[in-house]
Amino acid sequence: MKACVLRAPAAIETNPLEFTEAPTPKPGAGEVLVRVRCCGVCRTDLHVVEGELAPRKSPVIPGHQVVGVVETCGPGAERFLPGARVGIAWLHHTDGTCGYCRAGAENLCDNPAFTGYTVDGGYAEYAVAPQDFVYALPDGFPDLQAAPLLCSGIIGFRCLRLSGIKRGGRLGLYGFGAAAHVAIQVAHHWGVEVYAATRHAKHQRLAEQLGARWTGGPLERPPESLDAAIVFAPAGEIVPAALGALRKGGVLVLGGIHMSTIPPLDYSLLYQERVVRSVANNTREDGREFLRVAAEIPIHTHTQVFPLRVANRALNALKNDAIPGAAVLDCRA
Ligand SMILES: [Zn+2]
Ligand SMILES: [Zn+2]
Repeated sequence: MKACVLRAPAAIETNPLEFTEAPTPKPGAGEVLVRVRCCGVCRTDLHVVEGELAPRKSPVIPGHQVVGVVETCGPGAERFLPGARVGIAWLHHTDGTCGYCRAGAENLCDNPAFTGYTVDGGYAEYAVAPQDFVYALPDGFPDLQAAPLLCSGIIGFRCLRLSGIKRGGRLGLYGFGAAAHVAIQVAHHWGVEVYAATRHAKHQRLAEQLGARWTGGPLERPPESLDAAIVFAPAGEIVPAALGALRKGGVLVLGGIHMSTIPPLDYSLLYQERVVRSVANNTREDGREFLRVAAEIPIHTHTQVFPLRVANRALNALKNDAIPGAAVLDCRA
């Protein structure tokens, strides 16, 4: 099969992904082989490619927002029939036995595997995944529309949930890329006002088109104090600014897997029972619930499509914040 393979992490400007021939994976017991139609491009892929996340498998095929159809099923895998349209996301599998898994927090599993990081992902014509961690995709979303839902969408949804934001509330979104452009649609569906802070005019315009009440720079103070805010941008210097925008008791959620150093915080920013918390991965229940809500709204994703062979170019564009919405790779041969 054709795939984009990372042999060693390097700056994306050096085009480290090699578009090449790779062995087609075989589904093991309980796994399905998926013929990939398209794969969303996530900032986490950039962190993997550039080595901000320490390499866990090398070489590795990145990509964890995989939309495709089941090609074959491994022994004992009977959940899907060949031809079923499915999604593979970041949480590839968990041990199911550690304390976190048993407590319903499989996103924090002690022995997890992650698609496109610790196991090969979807920047390829085929990918395998355990059937129990594969999502049935609702009809009504074309493939390219569905791809960004599988990480950006699900993680944004978990961030929204953990922010505790309620109908009539005011929510800040810091960074307005793939995740935020989906989260704003869920927030509006819930009757929440959105304040979007991003340094890019193009991203501010997308936020305005999607109905943001206010847009501004990430260090600017929104005109109203916020009940909650989510930081999607990987920039630690946003944290004090976003905390400063919260009302007493407000919640700040950090949605990224990697962030530059957070500068020292003046305690007065945190005092009055403000909360800062991170979000790590997601549970399958988050994914199923989000896909249900996404179909009901329905969410419309803005995508820019690149052929698989130019994955480096898509990641370069993402790094330069040149993509309004989400980048998606077309992986069909
Ligand atoms: Zn576990
Ligand atoms: Zn992701």
